[in-house]
Formats: sequence, C-alpha cells, structure tokens
Amino acid sequence: MPLASLRVTTSSRTSVLPVGRQMQAAIEGKVRRDGLLLVSVPHTTCAVTLNEPESGLLDDFARALERLVPWGGPYAHNVGAEDNAAAHVRANLIGHQVLVPVVGGRLQVGVWQDVLLIECDGPRTRTVEARLLADGASG
Ligand code: ZN
Repeated sequence: MPLASLRVTTSSRTSVLPVGRQMQAAIEGKVRRDGLLLVSVPHTTCAVTLNEPESGLLDDFARALERLVPWGGPYAHNVGAEDNAAAHVRANLIGHQVLVPVVGGRLQVGVWQDVLLIECDGPRTRTVEARLLADGASG
C-alpha cells in the first residue's frame, strides 16, 4: 500500500506536468521519519523524473521525445488497434520511478527541481504513487 497516491489527468498525447506540490501535500503528516520517497508510476506509457518546471522547458521535453522516438515508427508493437509503441519506448527512456529524500516531512529537491510526470500517451488519468523507504543507515 503506497504512503500516498495521486490521480493526475493529462490533457494531450505528450505533456509534462509538475506534481511535486501535490505530492508534498499528499504526504503531509504521514512521514514520521526521514528516508527516501520512491515516487513511481504504475503505467507503461508515462514516466516520472526530476527537473525544472519552466513552461518552455516542459514543451522542449515533449518535442525532444518526438524527435528522438517519432510516433510513426515503424514498430513491431503497432499491430491492429495498437499504435503506441513510441509511447512505451519514450517512457522507458525516462524511467518509471525516482527516489527523493524526505527530511522533516519535506521533499528534498533542488531550488529549480520539481517532480515531473511525463505523459507519453495521453490524455489519460494517471496514478503517481509514493512509498517511504526506511533509512537503514541511521537505525
Ligand atoms: Zn501499447
């Protein structure tokens, strides 16, 4: 059972949404010790990472993914109604999880960092889960 679970609705096929503030609110009062928050998406066509939530940069990520992995293929996965091989490949270039330190109940990200959900096959409603991993080194 995750510590927190967000539902996020995306509005286009490829988009990047900052979710750090929502995640901070969702874990508020639930974290009693410092540790690492495993933030993950249980989906095959979206990803999660850390970076700057500047609006131009969010568009740049989407456009760079289109250049790196064009939607049109050809792809072996795209048979019959399936057409989203590019979304699977794009999501895996970024990854499905990220670890964020939590100290005193607060996500420890850099001044310019946010937790970003990368939608690769929207619009859809996505789940972003968070699990606290114990910090074994501090006992
Ligand atoms: Zn597929």
